[in-house]
Amino acid sequence: MSMSGAEYLASIYGTEKDKVNCSFYIKTGACRHSERCSRQHNKPQYSQTVVMQNMYVSPQNSAKSADGSHLANMTDHDIQEQFEHFFEDVFFECQEKYGEIEEMCVCDNQCDHLRGNVYIMFRREEDAVKAVEEMNNRWYMFRPIYAELCPVADFREASCRQFEIGQCVKGGFCNFWHVKPISQQLKSLLAKSSRKHRSRSRDRGGSRRDRGGGGGGDRERRRSRSRDRDYHNRRGRY
Ligand SMILES: [Zn+2]
Ligand SMILES: [Zn+2]
Repeated sequence: MSMSGAEYLASIYGTEKDKVNCSFYIKTGACRHSERCSRQHNKPQYSQTVVMQNMYVSPQNSAKSADGSHLANMTDHDIQEQFEHFFEDVFFECQEKYGEIEEMCVCDNQCDHLRGNVYIMFRREEDAVKAVEEMNNRWYMFRPIYAELCPVADFREASCRQFEIGQCVKGGFCNFWHVKPISQQLKSLLAKSSRKHRSRSRDRGGSRRDRGGGGGGDRERRRSRSRDRDYHNRRGRY
């Protein structure tokens, strides 16, 4: 009971007892009440994490036909393959343009504030800031991208543990991330590419001035990316 007022506030920050700050926003970077929430959503000025809202559109969610007949020819395997192409595309493009990525995931939730959200944690905060600035001027698959910095520092904390063991009773409307899984092959491909990226930026002394200079460097990077993709296609039949 010897806690000072400030200590008390710090100890309840972002918990259920905190009447000022929204615990869901702090933990998951999103809240079902959005702007109408009675508690504060403090958007960070600096963060390693970027969210691109509703960016992934699952074929199961896109309402091409109410009865789902547009899915008739798509097996689960096709849907997963399409998803992994999306994942790979976004990952490599962001890593090449903005900087090394530590972690990326896509939410499989059904609720509007989480559906298809893509979360990327960059190694450096300044890369995340740059990604947000530039992504907001871009489109993906004929839709504008909405990107912002996100307070989530630990993807595990934001993720639904029950979903991971197949036991979330809230289903798609859960307020924690239901992270859409990717194959082991894709995981190792991404890890390999991050390692390569790291050694490449070390070779260049990590200087940002060296980046995006002549077109030659870009072309070289693109070439190595298509090599990676061939590699993936060869091994990607799981
Ligand atoms: Zn809230
Ligand atoms: Zn859940």
